[in-house]
Amino acid sequence: MVVIGGGQSALAVGYHLARELRKREATVALLDRQPGPGGAWRDGWDSLRLFSPAEWSSLPGYLLPRHLGDRSADAFPHRDDVLGYLTAYEDRYELPVWRPIDVRAVRRLGDDRLLVETDRGDVSARAVVAATGTAARPFTPHVPGRDVFGGIQMHSSAYRSPEAFAGLRVLVVGGGNSGAQILAEVSAVADASWVVEREPRFLPEDVDGRVLFDAATARYRALQNGEALERPHGLGDIVQVPPVREARAAGRLESFRPPIAALTASGVVWPDGTEERIDAVIWCTGFRPALGFLDPLGVVGADGRVAVEGTRSIAEPRLWLVGYGEWTGFASATLVGVGRSARATAREVAAALPTASVP
Ligand code: FAD
Repeated sequence: MVVIGGGQSALAVGYHLARELRKREATVALLDRQPGPGGAWRDGWDSLRLFSPAEWSSLPGYLLPRHLGDRSADAFPHRDDVLGYLTAYEDRYELPVWRPIDVRAVRRLGDDRLLVETDRGDVSARAVVAATGTAARPFTPHVPGRDVFGGIQMHSSAYRSPEAFAGLRVLVVGGGNSGAQILAEVSAVADASWVVEREPRFLPEDVDGRVLFDAATARYRALQNGEALERPHGLGDIVQVPPVREARAAGRLESFRPPIAALTASGVVWPDGTEERIDAVIWCTGFRPALGFLDPLGVVGADGRVAVEGTRSIAEPRLWLVGYGEWTGFASATLVGVGRSARATAREVAAALPTASVP
């Protein structure tokens, strides 16, 4: 069987599949288009910090070593810590990741198999798990004039460091953790404002990502039991990692602006019609699932998602999807959250495959 992807979601699935498939006549291959381990973390900006501490940022079986987070003088691991951890995770469990291999398409092949077409040949599989994340499809909202704006436009996925913005008038668009972390450092060197739909919600300084997971877990359980529960904190709330805390204390995260009405050749038009000159826009506006390789199966809806029960495609029962967000499992787009979806998926995949005649 084939897992498409080689980031944290694919590794979590690979870990559980190795255990579930011991008694099945099945081999697994993880196909990843990246040249090395780490998935989307390879493209994170230079100062990127997790919003969750080390013990709440681990895949199944092997904890992100605490000292990695502590090395950075506080409990929030750095991007490079995660890259090192995912590399070690692959080695530790000898996960069969093949790279770089780009999966171009998945098609039906007879009654019981799917054909996975790649840039290095085709492979047939009784089961396919898509774990390709969202990083390949950065999302920027439609804003009139975006094409005529002559300044710098950059999505957070392309952002690396603040130097390119020194001395410029910059808008950072998006009120989540990415927007907060990037604004925190850009505002130190530029005249930067924060474009948000509503005032961002900062978690108290002593509250970090683990509280978000606890709150989200309580909400998930309540929903499963048919109960309503007030949401004290959400996964979109902003964790005050040290650079954010410092920028906030210095008053640099308080210049909120409403959503942009339009861009012009040299600036921005606000909803009240006023215009202002700006030099750059950094879009911290998220991602969408990158599932174009599933087009031949006809399972991807207009919203870019696949209809699933749990993580299994309803229209194509040989296909599972892991790690894309809440629609493929509660908190599944996080390091600590993907384990639950990965385990359930591996069990279903194993149950759908033939049992080995020899134990
Ligand atoms: P990815 O890491 O994107 O891996 C998918 C892999 O599949 C990639 O290697 C990609 O190249 C490959 N691929 C894609 N298409 C194909 C194809 N057609 N053929 C072959 N290979 C393909 N989570 C936390 O738990 N804590 C945090 O603090 C945290 N902070 C975050 C901060 C930012 C700024 C962002 C963007 C995310 C953060 N996350 C955090 C969320 C999450 O951990 C990442 O989004 C994570 O990288 C998703 O893992 P994934 O394996 O699903 O996807």
